[in-house]
Amino acid sequence: MNAATAHAATAHLPITAELLARYNIAGPRYTSYPTADRFTSAFGSNDLVQALHARLQTAGSATSTDSSRPLSLYVHIPFCASLCYFCACNKIITKHREWAADYLQQLQQELLLYHPHLTHSPAQAERPTVSQLHLGGGSPTFLSDDELKQLMHMLQTFFIFDPQGEYSIEVDPRTVDTQRLRHLKQLGFNRISFGIQDFDPAVQQAVHRVQPVEQVFALMQAAREAGFTSINTDLIYGLPHQNADSFTRTLQQVCALRPDRIALYAYAHLPERFKAQRRIDAHHLPTGNDKIHLLALALQHFSEAGYVYVGMDHFALPDDELAQAKKQGTLQRNFQGYSTRPNCDLIGLGISAISRIGNCYSQNAKTLDAYGQLLAQGQLPVERGLRLTRDDQIRHAVIMAIMCQGEVLFDALQRDWQIDFAAYFAKEIGQLEQLQTQGLVNMQADRFCVTPMGWYFVRAVAMVFDHHLQTTRANAHAAGTDAAHIEQPVRFSKIL
Ligand code: SF4
Repeated sequence: MNAATAHAATAHLPITAELLARYNIAGPRYTSYPTADRFTSAFGSNDLVQALHARLQTAGSATSTDSSRPLSLYVHIPFCASLCYFCACNKIITKHREWAADYLQQLQQELLLYHPHLTHSPAQAERPTVSQLHLGGGSPTFLSDDELKQLMHMLQTFFIFDPQGEYSIEVDPRTVDTQRLRHLKQLGFNRISFGIQDFDPAVQQAVHRVQPVEQVFALMQAAREAGFTSINTDLIYGLPHQNADSFTRTLQQVCALRPDRIALYAYAHLPERFKAQRRIDAHHLPTGNDKIHLLALALQHFSEAGYVYVGMDHFALPDDELAQAKKQGTLQRNFQGYSTRPNCDLIGLGISAISRIGNCYSQNAKTLDAYGQLLAQGQLPVERGLRLTRDDQIRHAVIMAIMCQGEVLFDALQRDWQIDFAAYFAKEIGQLEQLQTQGLVNMQADRFCVTPMGWYFVRAVAMVFDHHLQTTRANAHAAGTDAAHIEQPVRFSKIL
């Protein structure tokens, strides 16, 4: 494969293989700003408690930390029965099914520690409302049906679930059958995400994740019959043995499945950081040019199949809520990616889970031992986090406007933050002008917009405003080193 064949695949799209090569670069996915690699251990459980109290104190006001706002919950189930060699998630590979029961007890302890800080009265009767729940991992379906039921019952003891809410679960197709899917629906889940990655048998063998295409087709059908309102599938390009022919077959099969949403992630081979990846023979990986071609093929197939490009790896059918939100300019972004819900406060439960309360991010301890020790000391199990500075908050607003609306209105920012946009972002405007010459943004007197082509490289536009990343790059440049090794790789954070 070469640039010419890649160009052929993108010929009907407003992008070129040259642009893909230049701007489809490693970088943060901006599910938060600042990104999680900026969190520090100076932020601990007392800081999280303070943020929770500030949220309670502002109840009734119109501030962003108003506790009357609904909450979003994320629960991390870290266990998997089998290792996928591409995996960069925080997971524990084990055959010890009994570990799940202990973990559920720890989650209950964590909830008990949270509860006094979420309600005005310690009375159990007062339960905050939750409008979003996401079970991720690891493999949430490592838990048995009874354990999942126990977990949902536990959460319902502490929270009221809004009947209109979004309740989603990541599912490893190898761990469920029709009956289990029905059970998940009965438990209240209305959204489901299947990890597919690639249907080609040689690719599946090479990444140690064999799940025949017929099995996934049957599960998708069963999920629809069970009544899930939204079905997502995850794919990865850049895996060993992937080539244009095999990946085209996978793309055709995925389009035939017609999921409501598709997430397409790049595989970043970083065996020095992710031990599992050492089992992948690098000789079988597609080259950089081949990866661009695979991406171009995916863009072509999804576009021809009628999918809307939502932004940053995500595609949706035109009548899906995400595509509609993109059209109406109401898209939001949180740790699970794009969302249609307003930016709720987020409580992350379980090891490595991230919370966002008001202007604070916090992340739980990443190992079972450290998590258990903090809980045993009666502390919320926070390992690190961050309180956003005023500059962080301004840049957060700009970056989320880029990622979600593709448009930054200067007046709104000037009014909200009492800044002169042109003066505050003089350096960044210089960089935007370069992107304008490439056709990625359109600068106007009162705003700048991401162009239709720029949406495919929206990460590169957002990176202009990432002060932390720019500082790291400048320091690396001054030291004569390559910044690439200290920047976040393109990550697939929730591939099951
Ligand atoms: S990709 Fe998912 S199922 Fe596979 S090892 Fe990683 S977390 Fe577990």
